[in-house]
Amino acid sequence: MTEQTEEIRLRLDAPPACRDCDGATLLLARFPHAWKNARGEDVTGVREAALCPARQRGEPAADELLALFLVDGQLDQANVTVFTALAAAWVQNIPVADGGSRRARR
Ligand SMILES: [Zn+2]
Repeated sequence: MTEQTEEIRLRLDAPPACRDCDGATLLLARFPHAWKNARGEDVTGVREAALCPARQRGEPAADELLALFLVDGQLDQANVTVFTALAAAWVQNIPVADGGSRRARR
């Protein structure tokens, strides 16, 4: 398998409800993620993170992304570059709490 490039995919079309508060989210980002397992080996995978206005307001990187949503309303060709850059900064600030696993919460 070839090494993944640092690529973030943004989904704005009907992103899933927030896993923390079940509220509506603005976007879902999928991005490559690397961490070390218990034996100190590098493990890579893909994480998903949703931008939740209720939970993430107040975090600088999330605030910038939220502000762009308020101004532009949606992603288009004109703002995709700055949007992706802000999203990249945002996902880097998301704490790694679950090691990439998913917990089902219903
Ligand atoms: Zn939430």
